[in-house]
Amino acid sequence: MNKKISELLQILERFTKDMPKPLTDIVIKEFGHSPFLILISCLLSLRARDVVTIKIVRKLFKRAQTPQEIIKIPILELEEIIKPIGFYHTKARVLQAVSKEILEEFDGLVPDSEEKLLKIKGVGRKTAALVLSQAFNKPAICVDVHVHRISNRLGLVKTKTPEQTEKALKKVIPQEKWLEINRLLVIWGQNICTPISPFCSKCPLKLKICPQIGVKTTR
Ligand code: SF4
Repeated sequence: MNKKISELLQILERFTKDMPKPLTDIVIKEFGHSPFLILISCLLSLRARDVVTIKIVRKLFKRAQTPQEIIKIPILELEEIIKPIGFYHTKARVLQAVSKEILEEFDGLVPDSEEKLLKIKGVGRKTAALVLSQAFNKPAICVDVHVHRISNRLGLVKTKTPEQTEKALKKVIPQEKWLEINRLLVIWGQNICTPISPFCSKCPLKLKICPQIGVKTTR
């Protein structure tokens, strides 16, 4: 492994130990390693903060934890359950449509291939990669806004879109570290390397590892 990457991973592992964990870690810890629950929580989390999403996830999973149960919830009740989250109107429909498709096309089981996951309407690359890596332990890099932003700031990649970042990261990060890099950069992005004005003054990556590419204001 490239020396810079190996050092980066070591530092991130050390410093993220006591930071709040990302949504999927909490879901797995509280509800078990269920591909369906990981998928549903990921769909809920799109364009929402983890702190908000986890509250909704707990509320929803108290009411329903299987595709059969999700489709049986009257749509207005489902909206009401997930309401504090943004785009709840659309998300309620996506949750039911995805559950229905899993029941009808995949015998009620979340598929474990990228090709099949991407066939489900409402499941994009980011969600598919997260489910593959977290639920099935398959090699995939989930590139969300944090992973995309920080990879560019660190100079690991020079890309314009998350899709390009995913491809570029796969070339520089060893496959056995793909799951980990997502976790570490998500935690880093939520706590240190924030979108606007990152906390560079307290970041152990500053200078030695991170050239702060494109960063204009810092704290
Ligand atoms: S030095 Fe600043 S830009 Fe670089 S990783 Fe740390 S917080 Fe982010």
